[in-house]
Amino acid sequence: MENKNIPYKIYLEEHEMPNYWYNVRADMKKKPAPLMNPGTHQPMTAEDLAPVFCEELIKQELDNDTRYYPIPQEIRDFYKMYRPSPLVRAYCLEKKLGTPAKIYYKFEGNNTSGSHKLNSAIAQAYYAKKQGLKGVTTETGAGQWGTALSMACSYFDLDCKVYMVKISYEQKPFRREVMRTYGASVTPSPSNTTEVGKKILAEHPGTNGSLGCAISEAVEVAVSNPGYRYVLGSVLNQVLLHQSVIGVETKIALDKYGITPDIIIGCAGGGSNLGGLISPFMGEKLRGEKDYRIIAVEPASCPSFTRGVYAYDFCDTGMVCPLAKMYTLGSDFIPAPNHAGGLRYHGMSPVLSELYDEGMMEAVSVTQTSVFEAAEQFARVEGILPAPESSHAIRVAIDEALKCKETGEEKTIVFGLTGTGYFDLVAYEKFNNGEMSDYIPTDEELAKYRANLPKID
Ligand SMILES: *Cc1c(COP(=O)(O)O)cnc(C)c1O
Repeated sequence: MENKNIPYKIYLEEHEMPNYWYNVRADMKKKPAPLMNPGTHQPMTAEDLAPVFCEELIKQELDNDTRYYPIPQEIRDFYKMYRPSPLVRAYCLEKKLGTPAKIYYKFEGNNTSGSHKLNSAIAQAYYAKKQGLKGVTTETGAGQWGTALSMACSYFDLDCKVYMVKISYEQKPFRREVMRTYGASVTPSPSNTTEVGKKILAEHPGTNGSLGCAISEAVEVAVSNPGYRYVLGSVLNQVLLHQSVIGVETKIALDKYGITPDIIIGCAGGGSNLGGLISPFMGEKLRGEKDYRIIAVEPASCPSFTRGVYAYDFCDTGMVCPLAKMYTLGSDFIPAPNHAGGLRYHGMSPVLSELYDEGMMEAVSVTQTSVFEAAEQFARVEGILPAPESSHAIRVAIDEALKCKETGEEKTIVFGLTGTGYFDLVAYEKFNNGEMSDYIPTDEELAKYRANLPKID
C-alpha cells in the first residue's frame, strides 16, 4: 500500500468512495513544524498529548510518514450515508458569467450538519469510542463543528460537551438546539464551569467570548474529567488527514472523466477543508508529477495567511494548549464585531502554513460584502444557498473565471463548496438590507496583537 504509483482507483470500494485517507505530510520534504510544549519548548511527545487527545488520533497527529491510512469500516459505513459528495459542473454559473472557463465544485453541505466538518467528527468520535472513553469536549464558534460532533457522538453513544462562543450561543439559538437535539450539552463560553473561564470573566466582564477562549475551557474540562478527551474540528494534522476524503474523492471523479484542474480554490479558516481538498493534488505537485495553482481564500478581516507571521503561537486564549508553528495574527486577535462570514480563527493549519511558506500555494483575502455578492450570484443560478465561509471560495472562483473571459483561456477551476448557509440568514439579512460593512484591520492593530506572540528562539 506504500507504492505511490498505484492509482487511487484500486483503493475504491463501492460508490466511488475512497477507502483510504491520504497523508500529504508523507510527501512533504520539509515536514510541518511539530507542536511544542509551552513550558520546555520541546516537541510534544505522544505521552505529553495523552491527557488531552485520544491515543489513535495522537498517532495520526505525529505521523509524518504513513502515506495512506485505511478508513475503518465503521467510519466508512457512516460516510456512506452522505458520501460520495457531489462534484458538480457549474454550467449555469459559467453561462451567467459568459466565461470559457470550466467551473466545478465539490459540495460538502449535503448532510444534516451542513458542512464538511462531519468527515472528521465521525472519525474522532470513532477513535474516542474505540478507546473506551465516556465522552469528548470541544469548542464551537458559529456551531457547525459542534453540530457535526454532536451527530457523530450520538451515533457512537458518547457524551459530548460543547463550549460555544457566548455571542453565538445567544445570537444563533437554532444551531444550539440542533446540538441539544443530538444529545450534546452546550455551555456558553466563557463560563463559570472552568477555572480558565472564571479567570477570563474576571478580567473581561461582559466579554462576548471567542474561539480561543472556548478552546481553553474545553481542554480544561477534558483533562480534569476521567474518561474525557478534547477534540478539535480544524487546524490539526489529524483533521486534515480525515478531510483528505474530500480531495481523494474529487480526484477519483476528475480522473474518471479525464479532467485535469488548472486552479483549485478553497476557503481557509483553520485550513481543514482546503487541506483536505488539495491533498492528493498537492501530493502530485510535491512529487513533481503535476502542477496546479492552489489558492487559499480568507476574510480581509481575519487575514492569517496574507498579513500574519509564520511563528510559534498559542492555539487558544488561555494558553493551555501546545504551541503550533503557523501563520498567525496572534492568539488574542478577534475579528471586528461586524464580521459575519466565519473563518475567524487567528491561526492556520501547520501543514498549510509550511506549504504556503514554501510557495506551493497562494493566498488571497476578500472583503465580506464582495463575498456575499458572490454568494448571491451563485445561489441565484446554481440553486444552493452557500455558507458565507464557502462563499469566499466562490468569490475567487468567479474572479478567476472572469479573468479567463478577458484572456479567452479555457481553464478548469475546481473549488470547495464546504456547506450551506441556512443557519446564516442573519448575515444574509444584513447583506440584503444593505447594512453589511467591511472592516479591514490596520497595520497598527495587527502589530499590537503580533507583539504578544510568545518569544521563542
Ligand atoms: C468550519 C467551516 C469552514 C472553515 O474551516 P476550515 O477548517 O478552514 O475548513 C468552512 N466552511 C464551512 C461551511 C465551515 O463550517
